[in-house]
Amino acid sequence: MASLFNTPITVLNKVGKKKAALFEKFGIYSVGDLIRFYPRTYEDWSKPYKIAQAPLGEVCCIGGYIEQAHRPARVRGGLTIFKTVVCDGLDHMTVTFFNQDYLYDKFSGGGEFLFFGTLKQNGHFYEMTSPTVSDMDKAGIHPVYPQTAGLTSRQIEDAAAQAVRMLPPKMNDPIPQEIRERYGLCSLDFAVRAIHFPGSQEDVETARKRLSFEELLVLQLGMGRLKGGRQKDIQEFNRLKTDHSQEFFSLLPFEPTTAQRRSVSECINDMTVGKYPMNRLVQGDVGSGKTAVAAAVCYTAVKNGMQCAFMAPTEILAVQHFNSMSELLGESGIRVSLLTGSVKPSEKKKIHSQLENGQIDLVIGTHALISDSVAFKNLGLVITDEQHRFGVAQRSALISKGESPHIMVMSATPIPRTLALMIFGDLDLSILDELPPGRQKVDTFLIDSAKRSRAYGFLKKHIDDGEQCYIVCPLVEQSEVMELESAEEYAGKLRSTALGSCRTAILHGKMKPKDKEEIMSEFSSGNIDILISTTVIEVGVNVPNATIMFIENAERFGLSQLHQLRGRVGRGKKKSYCIMVSDNQSEITRQRLTVMCKTNDGFKIADEDLRIRGPGDFFGSRQHGLPELKVASMSSMEILERTQEAAEIILHDDPQLEKKEHRGLRFETQRLFAKTGGEQLQ
Ligand code: ADP
Ligand code: MG
Repeated sequence: MASLFNTPITVLNKVGKKKAALFEKFGIYSVGDLIRFYPRTYEDWSKPYKIAQAPLGEVCCIGGYIEQAHRPARVRGGLTIFKTVVCDGLDHMTVTFFNQDYLYDKFSGGGEFLFFGTLKQNGHFYEMTSPTVSDMDKAGIHPVYPQTAGLTSRQIEDAAAQAVRMLPPKMNDPIPQEIRERYGLCSLDFAVRAIHFPGSQEDVETARKRLSFEELLVLQLGMGRLKGGRQKDIQEFNRLKTDHSQEFFSLLPFEPTTAQRRSVSECINDMTVGKYPMNRLVQGDVGSGKTAVAAAVCYTAVKNGMQCAFMAPTEILAVQHFNSMSELLGESGIRVSLLTGSVKPSEKKKIHSQLENGQIDLVIGTHALISDSVAFKNLGLVITDEQHRFGVAQRSALISKGESPHIMVMSATPIPRTLALMIFGDLDLSILDELPPGRQKVDTFLIDSAKRSRAYGFLKKHIDDGEQCYIVCPLVEQSEVMELESAEEYAGKLRSTALGSCRTAILHGKMKPKDKEEIMSEFSSGNIDILISTTVIEVGVNVPNATIMFIENAERFGLSQLHQLRGRVGRGKKKSYCIMVSDNQSEITRQRLTVMCKTNDGFKIADEDLRIRGPGDFFGSRQHGLPELKVASMSSMEILERTQEAAEIILHDDPQLEKKEHRGLRFETQRLFAKTGGEQLQ
């Protein structure tokens, strides 16, 4: 198998340079990559339905013979259309095709075919539009791959079939037999064949179970190796001599919470007596006071003669951090600077030289911090405000500007401990599980669309009082191309409601970061009343005057996402609200959304989300900066826990996977982490 990763994909029939470039879009360069590229789902053509038995409105396969095929006719815009009547011996359905005249040639001689599509009933008639058509002998389960313009699922299937034929008869299995037996996993050989070309639905399940186990196991082993490897290399590093945190706390205008004190002392302990430089994640819900924790640690580091760098994912966030850090630290004589892409070149130059001379103690900035021209005199502490945005690569670029600096990662996304241990497996964990006293609760309501116009009235009242709102509007389709359109349509509809006179702006996922920031800053300065967004609004953005978060189709979101959205309001002194609109009646959905109305505690919500939906959505969301996982999104909590156990057993015995029986796993960890472009595993 390993050699197939060195076999370029162009050895396959019908894959030339052009096609190969399309495969590369999916990260597929070699035959091995293609084998490890799994179908998104399957079409079950194995048991064709009779028309009368087929599930209406669902995608299914129907078998029948051509009774009549009408000649293609030209309609507007160069489109051609033709209809055929298909009979299964008892009932008929009319099948319509657009721009597929070659099918007419195929059907004009009659014959039996399989039609894969959505059956609809119109009065007494059955209809199908643009189904996939296949000969009768193609019955079976067909893989459906993610496709891209110019590369269809069928073409990938064809290439995958060739790739699978190139597999050696006896494959080495990276998972040692002992582990496979212990956890009831099928062999790699069976799994990769079955994931592409399963004989039955059970085969799919067996293969998925094994492959997602492998993926999660490899991820955790890789994380374990990173941690172990990094620590092995580091002999000397900057330690703190004195703890100045009490002194810092006494300068604060408020009393730190117990959780803040605990987190600060965990950090300072790492930096003072730890065996290795600190490598710690500080996790805390929005508003839990992470900035003060970071400031306390910076203060102590600077008083011990170190420089600190603090990197944020966007310019807005960098500016926000700069303002609050300057406020917290400025008066104590600590020299704080801001370095972002929009700082003037002359000013930049000055900052660069001051950093190099040690005239700046703390620099806060964006990616501008990792540019080659930035150098430090004595960088001792690196803080990143992750919001899950930095790849491992960017983090390490900043880290490499110091000599084994201490690292602190801040995240505002509460993640249940089980997941956090895995995702941030190479970090120690501090949790701010307590909000400062007197924090207001965001009142949260679940309504159905019948109450929408009343709710608009509620928004209007608050806007008239000078407050601002967010509206997260529904996506018509899953497709991102539609994002702008659906937002514009929504904004258009608003014009004829109580909110018609309000100043609105649209924010959507396809926008350039620069345009996004522009709109956000307009919103920040109060020039926009309602921000309509199709996606999750910039995490971490702080507009205290925004008091209402209004979420359409709330059922589309995971609880943690809803919680993140809700966290955009309730940031000022004014009472804030979250209104979720959903007409979904399913028991699970209601249960889920009700959790939001009951609690404001992000950790509780994250636990509940994980319990109700399993870890799949989490891995699916790609918000975590992990290497990309392929099948783990289909895994269960149970698999996750088992892989944790298995990883512990293996790493305990062989921390760097040096033993012969772990060679395969070692190879897979290299492969998984190679794609992150960050720290590499050997
Ligand atoms: P986050 O964890 O979301 O980054 P911040 O650090 O921005 O939270 O803190 C949110 C607000 O709470 C800030 O205005 C900060 O000054 C205030 N704050 C932080 N800690 C406390 C505390 N212990 N008591 C009162 N207010 C606090
Ligand atoms: Mg913050």
